[in-house]
Amino acid sequence: MLLNPGIGALLSGAFGLLWLSQRGKTYILYAAAGYGLNAAAFFIQDIVFQYLVTPLPDSGERLVTNLMFLFSGWLLAAAVLGRYGRRPHFPVMAITTAAAALALVWFLLVQPSVVGRILSMNAALGVVTLMIVVKLFPVRKKHLIDRLIFAVAILSVANYVARPLIILALAGGFGSGANFQHSLYWTTVQFTQPLIAIALALTLMVAIAIDLIEQLRQEARTDKLSGLLNRGGFEAAATAALRRCQTGNGLPACLIIADLDHFKQINDTFGHSVGDAVIGLFGRHIGAMCGEEMVAGRIGGEEFAVLLPGHEIQAARLFAESLRACPWDYWSGMLPPKVAPSVSIGVCAAWPGADLHALMNQADEALYDAKKAGRDQVRLFGTRAAATRALDLIWTKS
Ligand code: GH3
Ligand code: MG
Ligand code: MG
Repeated sequence: MLLNPGIGALLSGAFGLLWLSQRGKTYILYAAAGYGLNAAAFFIQDIVFQYLVTPLPDSGERLVTNLMFLFSGWLLAAAVLGRYGRRPHFPVMAITTAAAALALVWFLLVQPSVVGRILSMNAALGVVTLMIVVKLFPVRKKHLIDRLIFAVAILSVANYVARPLIILALAGGFGSGANFQHSLYWTTVQFTQPLIAIALALTLMVAIAIDLIEQLRQEARTDKLSGLLNRGGFEAAATAALRRCQTGNGLPACLIIADLDHFKQINDTFGHSVGDAVIGLFGRHIGAMCGEEMVAGRIGGEEFAVLLPGHEIQAARLFAESLRACPWDYWSGMLPPKVAPSVSIGVCAAWPGADLHALMNQADEALYDAKKAGRDQVRLFGTRAAATRALDLIWTKS
C-alpha cells in the first residue's frame, strides 16, 4: 500500500530538485506536480480511507481520488509533451475531464457500478495517454531516448485500454466493496502503476540529462558575440565537413577567411562596446548568408572563417563577395553614424588530402594579399589569384 504513494513522492521530489536548477523548463515542474498528485491520490485512497478514517458512503471518496488520478495524468502528459515544445489539446482535455466526472458521479451515486467506474476512469486515462502518442507520432525522434519515451507512452495506452478488458474477460469482474482493494484488478494496478511510473520518470530524466549535455556542448562550441561557432567549434566542424568532402564523392571545397578592416580604429574612436556590436552584426550577416551545409565561425577577434563544401573556387569567390557586401545601412539604428567597416577576404580551394590547417594558411595568405592590395576586396590564393587579378584588369580596362 505504501509502494505507490512512496514512489510517487520520491519521483515528485526528484523532479522538483531537477527543476530548481533548470527553472526555465516548466515541463519538469509539471512532472514533479504530476507525480506529487499521483502519490497523494494513492495515499488518500489506499491509506487514509483504508486505515485512518471511515470511507464515505458508496465509496464517495473515490470521486475525489479518481479525479486526482486524472489530473495527475494530464500533468504528466503536459510534462512529456512539454519536452517536445508541445501542449496537451485543451478541448479534448476539458471534454474528457467533464465526461469522466459525470460518469463517476453516475456510477457512484445514481447507478452504483464498480465496472462502470473503472471502465470510465480507464477510458479517460486512455485518452490522456493516447493524446501523448498522437502528438508525439509526427515528432522526429532523433535520439534513442525519444523512441523510448514514445514506447512508454504506447505501453501506458495498453495499460489503460487493454489491461481492464483482459481482466474483465479473465476474472469476470473487478471485485467490489470491501474486497475491491484485494481484487485481481487492483492488484494489477498496484503492480503496473509503479512500473510505468518509474519507466516514464527514468526516460524523462535521461532525456533531461541528454538535453543538458547537448546544451552545454553547444555552448562550449558557440561564440556568444557573433552567434557563430568559436575557434574550437569551427575547427572540429570544418575538419569533419572537409573529410566528408574528401572521402565522399570527392566533392570540391573552399575556405574563406574574412577580417574587418581597420577595426582597431572603431574600438579607439567609438569604444569597445561599439566594436562588439560590429562583430555581432557581421557575425549575424555571415550566419544569414550561410546555407546549412556551410560551416561558419569566429576564429579570432574580428576574424571569421567559412568552409564551403561543394564549392569550386569561383563560386566561393562570389560567396565571399556577398559576405563583403555587409548591409551596414540596414543596421544604422544600432550603430553610431558612419560606422560601416569594409572587409578583406582571402579564399583558397582544397586539394586531395588537404587538411584544415593547410587551408587556413593559404586563405590567410590570400587575406594578407587583400590587405596589401588596399583592403575591402576578395583575393584568391596562389596562381589562380594571379589569374583572377589579370582578368580583373582586362575587365576594368575594357
Ligand atoms: P586591419 O585592417 O589590418 O585588419 O587592421 P585592424 O585594426 O582591423 O587589425 P588589428 O589586428 O590591428 O586590430 C584588431 C583589433 O580587434 C585589436 C583588438 O583590440 C580588437 N578586438 C579583438 N577582439 C575584440 C573583441 O572581442 N571586441 C572588440 N570590441 N574588439 C576586439
Ligand atoms: Mg582587421
Ligand atoms: Mg585581425
